[in-house]
Amino acid sequence: MTITISSAFDAGNIRVVKQDGDLVDLEIVKDHMSDFYQWFHFRLAGAAGREVTLRIVNCAGSAYPHGWPDYRACLSVDREEWVRVPDTSYADGILTVKLTPPTDCVWLAYFAPYSMERHHDLVTAIAALEGVRYSSLGKSLDGQDIDCLTIGEGDLNAWLYARQHPGETMAEWWMEGALEKLCDPEDPVARVLRRECTFRVIPNMNPDGSRRGHLRTNAAGVNLNREWHAPSAEKSPEVLCVRNAMDKAGVDFAMDVHGDEAIPANFLAGFEGIPSISERQTRLFKLFSDTLERLSPDFQTAQGYEVPAPGQANMSMSTTQLAERFGCVSMTLEMPFKDNNNLPDPIYGWSPQRSKYLASACLDALHAILPELKAERKSASRAA
Ligand code: ZN
Repeated sequence: MTITISSAFDAGNIRVVKQDGDLVDLEIVKDHMSDFYQWFHFRLAGAAGREVTLRIVNCAGSAYPHGWPDYRACLSVDREEWVRVPDTSYADGILTVKLTPPTDCVWLAYFAPYSMERHHDLVTAIAALEGVRYSSLGKSLDGQDIDCLTIGEGDLNAWLYARQHPGETMAEWWMEGALEKLCDPEDPVARVLRRECTFRVIPNMNPDGSRRGHLRTNAAGVNLNREWHAPSAEKSPEVLCVRNAMDKAGVDFAMDVHGDEAIPANFLAGFEGIPSISERQTRLFKLFSDTLERLSPDFQTAQGYEVPAPGQANMSMSTTQLAERFGCVSMTLEMPFKDNNNLPDPIYGWSPQRSKYLASACLDALHAILPELKAERKSASRAA
């Protein structure tokens, strides 16, 4: 039987360039109106029991070439469980994946996908729970809603938002974990968080890029995390509607959830280098980060991005823009596409389940620093 490869579905991305029996050369397709690419997701059919060699030949020009060494592709036979393909290798700009599919329809992806259909399942299920309020903050360029779930009754305004970069699907798996914990009526941490905070949760900031199978941009090829200083209805309505909602409600604490292609670890990026940085912001960010490191063996502070010099922050990114705009504690969480090398998992690598556990630990860390966040907030409002 001849191999058939397809990607014409929610979040699919691949192009066949050459096929010679069970050896197939593939290319990842660029984001629409952009040069970014790295996300792939396709179905391989008709190869049960035979060794197949798949070669993604345009990896050298991808957004993060350093993401490919030591990376292993994700494979599913049931679209529920995603395992790593052990025989994945990278050399000379080509990612080679060798496998013997156990069945005639198997699925491969850069990371376990989080489809828009699953997104709607999540939002619908959470919105039906007692105490949860749903709102659409606006529309994307393709006309999809920017879904927001509001949970809790407290004074502290906490915002959790993910998937500005749609190919970073671990970010929405994280959201699924965060929402499940936050809405658990019996979880003691969630009960206190709901009493002290009002959470506004946006599980997917970029539904268009998600459905189109993009790595990094929306329907107009715009990187949403470079729009926060000046979002527009024409290019970045997703950011405009969220930032407007934040201006209205206020922000005390914000987490922007992402994935990193190259670094095999979980880490936070903060807001160093913003013009009006305060000692309070810096201290609370460090307190959160140190607390999370104590709580989760999957989190660490040794590896991460280079910290900008004073005054050198990029103010077009959400974390810096929010820290400057609200004087709040904001942060970017990065999870690996590969694995956490401090605690590796040979079967799954970094995975949906581990992303969900990390979300739970992040909420535990937020709970642990609540006294400081609240005390600081009170003194801040007294001063004002
Ligand atoms: Zn990202």
